[in-house]
Amino acid sequence: MPIVAVATDAEGVSEESEGLVVIPLSTATPVATSVPVSTPTPTVPRVGIIAGHTGSDSGAVCPDGLQEVTINDNVARQVVAILSARGWSVTQLEEFDARLTGYTADALVSIHADSCTLVDRSGYKVARAESSSIPDAEDRLTACLSQRYGEHTGIPFDPHTITYDMRRYHALYEINPNTPAAIIETGFMSGDRELLTERSDVVARGIADGLICFIEGESP
Ligand SMILES: [Zn+2]
Repeated sequence: MPIVAVATDAEGVSEESEGLVVIPLSTATPVATSVPVSTPTPTVPRVGIIAGHTGSDSGAVCPDGLQEVTINDNVARQVVAILSARGWSVTQLEEFDARLTGYTADALVSIHADSCTLVDRSGYKVARAESSSIPDAEDRLTACLSQRYGEHTGIPFDPHTITYDMRRYHALYEINPNTPAAIIETGFMSGDRELLTERSDVVARGIADGLICFIEGESP
C-alpha cells in the first residue's frame, strides 16, 4: 500500500533534511546536488531502493499477523545485494528517509505489497508519478520493471487496482524531478503469499532485472 504525502509533514521534513541530505550526497558524488541529471548511463549507476513502510509503520497487516513491511524489507535487501554485486552504488532507503528530499540518482524504486483484503487476488502493478518532468524516462523505467517482473514471477499485471494513491505516492514528489522513479506493488499478501514470503529471491530478481533493463538501455 502506498503512502501519500501529508501537508503537515512538509515543514518538519525539509527542516530536518537540510543537514542530513548534504552529508551522504557530498560524500558519494560532490557534484550531485548542483548538476541536474542529464547523463542516463554513468560509469557506476546510482540507484535508490525504498523498502516500503520501513522506519515508519507496518503497512498492510493480514488477519494472521503477516506484515507488509516485513516482506518489503526482505525484498529490498535482496535487490540491493544483487545490484551491489554488479558494481552499482545502491542505497536502501526508509519510507520517509530524510535523504529523499531532492534525491538524485539514476533511478529510484519503492517496493510495496498489496493487502490481504481481496481474498485469493493475484497480480502486481507498477506506476510512476501522474505528473512527471521526465515522462519518457519514467515510462521506460515502468515498462522495464513491469516486463521483467512479470517474466520472473509469472503473476499477472493488474491494471485494475492501480490507484490514485500509487500515482500520488509521496516519495515521487520529494525527490529531484530529474530522478526517474517508480513504485511497484509486488503482489497481494493474500493470493501471492507463497511468492512473496517463500520465493522472495524471485521477487527481488525481477525488480533487479527491471532496473538493469532500464539502466543498461535494454528494450523492455
Ligand atoms: Zn505499502
